[in-house]
Amino acid sequence: HRVPRVVAATPPDAPFRNAVDTDPAVPEHRAWAAEVLERAARSDEGVATLEQHTVVDEQVLDRLLGETAEAGRAWGARPAAERAAVLQRAGDALEAARGRLIEVMASEAAKTFDQADPEVSEAIDFARYYAERARELDHVDGARFEPAALTLVTPPWNFPVAIPAGGVLAALAAGSGVVLKPAGPASRCGAVLAEVLWSAGVPQDVLTLLQVDEETLGRRLVADPRIDRVVLTGAWETARLFRDFRHDLPVLAETSGKNAMVVTPSADLDLAVKELVASAFGHAGQKCSAASLAILVGPVARSKRFLGQLVDAVSSLEVGAPWVATTRMGPVIEPASGKLLEGLTTLGPGERWLLEPKRLDREGRLWTPGIRTGVRRGSDFHRTEYFGPVLGIMTANDLDEAIAMQNEVAYGLTAGLQSLEPEEIGRWIDRVEAGNVYVNRGTTGAIVGRQPFGGWKRSSVGAGTKAGGPNYLVGLGTWHRSATAD
Ligand code: GLU
Repeated sequence: HRVPRVVAATPPDAPFRNAVDTDPAVPEHRAWAAEVLERAARSDEGVATLEQHTVVDEQVLDRLLGETAEAGRAWGARPAAERAAVLQRAGDALEAARGRLIEVMASEAAKTFDQADPEVSEAIDFARYYAERARELDHVDGARFEPAALTLVTPPWNFPVAIPAGGVLAALAAGSGVVLKPAGPASRCGAVLAEVLWSAGVPQDVLTLLQVDEETLGRRLVADPRIDRVVLTGAWETARLFRDFRHDLPVLAETSGKNAMVVTPSADLDLAVKELVASAFGHAGQKCSAASLAILVGPVARSKRFLGQLVDAVSSLEVGAPWVATTRMGPVIEPASGKLLEGLTTLGPGERWLLEPKRLDREGRLWTPGIRTGVRRGSDFHRTEYFGPVLGIMTANDLDEAIAMQNEVAYGLTAGLQSLEPEEIGRWIDRVEAGNVYVNRGTTGAIVGRQPFGGWKRSSVGAGTKAGGPNYLVGLGTWHRSATAD
């Protein structure tokens, strides 16, 4: 069951190139994708793998942390070129495991093929990109880099392969030992990822996989003085909590977002509809980067054609099981409750449904996508992250007002603009407050090496360096002036 395409093992010094996604236009790729999805539909494996890595015993935990820190120091003492070679092999192993990784993402984490496949590409990119960055660490004039001995990586469930891969591979590239604690609802994905990396030559004791509950994660792991870096993607509150457990602990965190796409009258409106739909409803809106607001400027807000196309496009998204090839939107990972349930069922003052979400199953995981309009400035929907398949529409008189609305939230992760007017684009880029800004493109799916990913304001805690960018490894160790420096 290999990917039906030529996958050349990457020679160590090949310049970085992004991995290529499966192409639905190629018949062999389609047939291969169908096989992968069939296996995902039948899958009931994994429980044994999980138990094998679950740690409950305090003494075992203590020993594992000690061993990983020690192995990490030895790993960090190896020349960067050696670590880079292991990372290159990891990239190739991830490519060879593409089908297996998609299968487990579909069966465990409700990812459709079109969402899971680029996620594998991103994981491969992290391996090859950080391999190159690792080599640079040995060549900084006047400074010596000392890697962290032990990095704790705590990823979320919504990108259960790419985000853990990014954290783990960055730490390994920097020369640190790693404890990976996958997110509870996607822990099998984390286990499969770790197995692929071990199989590629990452030493077993340098990368330790730990399944522990959230309580143990915070009070025991984060609090342990042997952990000297944490790479976290998750809620801003979690990052704060980690800091409360240990004030001296450097946390590199990418946290929540409340992202909007602005559409001005100069935009290519067909493109705007397409990008908005993908950004709002890809993976059922469960992305920190998702566009959960559309801010329509002037006549766009009154354009029957634009709104009609938007409603048509969204209502035609096929909702169903992630392993069915025609499904465009799968279920949410856990039955909707709290904030998300409210977002799917309850309107705020002055709002109305352009498209009302409908629950399709008993437990409340499968919903049709929703669009609410009339979202008011300063309202709950304007400012709060809902993390699900519901888009809110706001209207602005002009671009300046739209920018003000975009900036009036505590977060600053992604922001989108649809406009074909150079003056508007320049003004928007100068003023918008977000880590990742996208013009005439969706707000999701940052590409390693081309669009380093990271937030601003409450979307980031720590050094503020971006994943998949040139400076990410720098935060995973300490810099010392070397003896020869003046
Ligand atoms: N890097 C992902 C993207 O660009 C988002 C990650 C997240 O949701 O945390 O879509």
